[in-house]
Amino acid sequence: MADNIIKILPDNLANKIAAGEVIDRPASVVKELVENAIDAHATQINIIIKQGGKALIKIVDNGCGMSPKDVSMALQRHSTSKISKYDDLENIRTLGFRGEALASIASVSRIEIRSALADSVESTVLKMDGGKSLQVDKAAPQKGTSVSVKNLFFNTPARRKFLRTDETEYRHILNILNRFTLAYPEIGFQLVNGDVEVYDFKPKNLDGRIAEALGKRISSNMLEAKDDGSSIGISGRVGSWEIVRKSRGDQYLFLNRRYIVDRSLNHAIISGYGEMLPKRNFPVYIIFLTVDPQRVDVNVHPTKTEVKFEDQRLIYDLLRGCVKRALTVPATVPNLTPTPDTSQSNVQKPDSQYTRQTSLDFSSASSAQAWKDVYPNQDRQGTPNELEQRALTHKPYEQVKIWQLHNCYILTEIKSGLIIIDQHVAHERILYEKALRDFQEAKPSSQQLLFPQTLDLSPEEFNILMEMHPFLQRLGFIIKAFGKQTIVVEGVPSGARVSDEHTFLLEIIDDYKNNRKAGAEIRESIAKSYSCKSAIKAGEKLQP
Ligand code: ADP
Ligand code: MG
Repeated sequence: MADNIIKILPDNLANKIAAGEVIDRPASVVKELVENAIDAHATQINIIIKQGGKALIKIVDNGCGMSPKDVSMALQRHSTSKISKYDDLENIRTLGFRGEALASIASVSRIEIRSALADSVESTVLKMDGGKSLQVDKAAPQKGTSVSVKNLFFNTPARRKFLRTDETEYRHILNILNRFTLAYPEIGFQLVNGDVEVYDFKPKNLDGRIAEALGKRISSNMLEAKDDGSSIGISGRVGSWEIVRKSRGDQYLFLNRRYIVDRSLNHAIISGYGEMLPKRNFPVYIIFLTVDPQRVDVNVHPTKTEVKFEDQRLIYDLLRGCVKRALTVPATVPNLTPTPDTSQSNVQKPDSQYTRQTSLDFSSASSAQAWKDVYPNQDRQGTPNELEQRALTHKPYEQVKIWQLHNCYILTEIKSGLIIIDQHVAHERILYEKALRDFQEAKPSSQQLLFPQTLDLSPEEFNILMEMHPFLQRLGFIIKAFGKQTIVVEGVPSGARVSDEHTFLLEIIDDYKNNRKAGAEIRESIAKSYSCKSAIKAGEKLQP
């Protein structure tokens, strides 16, 4: 074996390796740079994104800025102004402290930093290319700092290869920014994507910011959660039952205003909702924990999203109790009244777990019997398709003997025996096939709404809806964008059983998000969720 084979890695290589841990996609660059701006006490942060952050990420702040010497220092590894001795690590009050973000980002991109201290007569401009060929210039003064990151991962092809589409990367950025805009409502945030201004959030209080960032439907259904009776402070908002959703979208837990992920504390919050919360349903929450920095370790995870509490159990109990109390306002108990009388109208609220559970009417077995008595036995068979078609076109039933069981299943004879059809699944299948055909044939047929519905969406929902729009249009939805976060629904597919356009569209958006994660095609995903949402539900009594 050769002697002396161990060597110290050159700085630039070490930085690239370190970058692998903290910078894995454009959104992580955005996270680090916005954290730096917040640590610099900025009150306004502007974010410019091109091509999902692959081409450009630019963050401009009006914070404290840096001296010419500090600008150069900042790009070195382990350079930080936030801690200087071990004890400081026990008392972290800033978002950053490791001094590795800028060095890491610089090593895998073309970076340009421009910064000036408040009273200086010029600003320093520093450029670097993949962590090399440092170049320093002077420019006219500007308050604060701007950092541009171009061609991310241009020199680490393996990393670059793993980036997803611009759209997906952009959506990760939107998600990351939500965390900051919600945690720091007193800071103004402007986001520009490509050449389009996505939002311009002015400094606000928490509720105002929630309305902007997550949409009015969510903000008007939030309840206050508060507990400042001990050394651990809890404050924030929990979503009422009205806005429990099918995807784990809007759940935000902050520790000393740092976004964290903690399964156990998430569980505490969920269990505050109690037994009534159906499986795979997710409440919305935005909760701030305030804990003495000495009683928590934020240095256990590369991106610091996981932390270690000294009083985990205590926080769990406090959090759970706090959520429970917030929800025990009378109006927030879920509505368990049975489904509306479907004999009057074919239109029903989109399926909710509650209505589904309570709407199974077992007395209907006797009505199936009555049905049987009316239609004499005749030898006819029908495919699910035909049966469904008959049910929809009200063809006489003399020829076929068919029962509806528990308002759930259609039973009928076929030559070889008996067929049991799940009415929801059968209808869903028909609508699914029809949707796929509609996408190709493009002859949308719509029914105009008497009263067009205006819906306020979050920037993320708006973005997704716009992506889905061409498909929704072919199905027969008439949707118009109205400003940057508002849409007006003027029409729905003819024959669609949509009674609450808002919930309906939100559920389609949620499904779409989930399906996309699983890698489904846009077309299929939309067809799937549209057909599921608008098909006849279990529990609906069918007319012959
Ligand atoms: P950390 O944030 O962990 O200290 P970074 O590499 O992110 O490490 O930044 C290094 C240093 O550069 C910071 O400690 C800070 O002093 C300075 N810095 C970075 N970004 C800014 C900014 N936007 N405004 C003022 N100073 C900044
Ligand atoms: Mg930092």
